Amino acid sequence: MNKYDVIIVGAGVAGLSAAYVLAKAGVNVVVLERGLNPGSKNVMGGVLYRQMMEELIPEFWKDAPLERPIVEQRFWLMGKDAVTSGGYKDLEWSKPPYNNFTVFRGKFDAWFASKCVEAGALIINETVAVECIVKEGKVVGVRTTRPDGDLYANVVILADGVNSLLARRLGFHKEWRPSQVALAIMEQIKLPALTIEERFNVASGQGVTIELYGDATLGMMGTAFIYTNKEHVSIGCGTLLSQLSQSKITPYDLLDRLKQHPLVEPLIKGGEAVEYYAHLIPEGGYHSVPKLVGNGVMIIGDAAQLVNGIHREGSNLAMTSGRLAAEAYLIAHRVGDFDERMLSPYAVAITESYVIKDLKKYKNATHIMEKNPAYFNTYLPAVNEAAKEFLSVDGRPKRSKQWLILKRFFGHRGWFRSLWEIIKLGRSMK
Ligand SMILES: Cc1cc2nc3c(=O)[nH]c(=O)nc-3n(C[C@H](O)[C@H](O)[C@H](O)COP(=O)(O)OP(=O)(O)OC[C@H]3O[C@@H](n4cnc5c(N)ncnc54)[C@H](O)[C@@H]3O)c2cc1C
Repeated sequence: MNKYDVIIVGAGVAGLSAAYVLAKAGVNVVVLERGLNPGSKNVMGGVLYRQMMEELIPEFWKDAPLERPIVEQRFWLMGKDAVTSGGYKDLEWSKPPYNNFTVFRGKFDAWFASKCVEAGALIINETVAVECIVKEGKVVGVRTTRPDGDLYANVVILADGVNSLLARRLGFHKEWRPSQVALAIMEQIKLPALTIEERFNVASGQGVTIELYGDATLGMMGTAFIYTNKEHVSIGCGTLLSQLSQSKITPYDLLDRLKQHPLVEPLIKGGEAVEYYAHLIPEGGYHSVPKLVGNGVMIIGDAAQLVNGIHREGSNLAMTSGRLAAEAYLIAHRVGDFDERMLSPYAVAITESYVIKDLKKYKNATHIMEKNPAYFNTYLPAVNEAAKEFLSVDGRPKRSKQWLILKRFFGHRGWFRSLWEIIKLGRSMK
């Protein structure tokens, strides 16, 4: 019988984080990955957060294949030919300890997997886990597509990403509703490093992220993004599937429209589109997080809806959940008991960490914005209109402009209603 201490399904950042901690502790751990190799199926814009990775591998940035440390984060509220912008630039972020980096997940995950193998983990590629094997109410292994396909373990960790069929089959959650996932599409545009640095106004090797709202997603709930890599610019957009399916636009046309926007096009002009991706992102937030622990099983990363869509964080929540699940396993391993009660320290630790605390903070915000399209299609454009009004020098006194701005901002939907809607959203994020 093929028996391991732990089977991890999925070699994304969540699964690899768990595998690394377990292998380092001498646990006999196998990771099953359906792709050709780790990273080959993974898509990310993508910003990887230094702190959560360094909790696993100190000073990983000396060795890992990273693109650029991000020194500036910009926010653009887009109109048709206009933008109201803000942001923060910090040159401290260009050197250790760094804040975050852009990465290509294809390269990064492959490197991370090699570190897991060095630590003693076994990674089996091109192997799809089809379902968990359950005996007497306890998960004891997984069935795979290989001819000798059944593998057994004390514990199975499900790190199989947003679609997590295995957790669904175990009854941990139902199929995600279109309002619980966003569809993200993106392209990599190849450009010389110097051109990227000139266009984004950064020094050699430094990077910028831009988050775009409003017209960038045609007023649908979601964001678009532009990230600088060494010799590529990642450009993409993600909108809630429920809203995208109601709109008449295809995802590809939405991205094309963004690329042709007069304020975006100069950033990518002359570049060659070399890769194109589409992927779901869990957006259900706190209310969609399923049960995280069962008898002999734990769920981590996107499979558990651990994504903070408002702050565009997912990889860090995945890494932290992987580490905490591995640490819970190590406690259970000492006792030799792997039932739900013994694995529950994972659920406790994650609830006490920033992961669940942050999701809880925004627990109603996404639903409020989803239910009321005015936040994205009325109030965001109104900010641009206000900026235009206030900054146009046309001989009208500033006080009358202020009044006009307020009238426009609140006039669209009525003063009381608008005030209430803004207070409601503010309260949902406090
Ligand atoms: C376009 C886009 C941009 C993003 N940008 C950012 C960003 O800037 N910053 C950020 O922090 N997060 C970002 N995210 C989110 C982030 O990518 C995810 O939160 C993170 O990758 C989750 O890691 P994971 O290991 O849980 O899942 P994944 O990375 O999806 O890994 C799951 C793995 O499981 C494998 N798998 C699935 N099913 C099976 C099976 N049955 N058998 C075997 N293997 C299986 C898959 O092949 C995959 O390798 C972005 C996501 C997208 C789509």
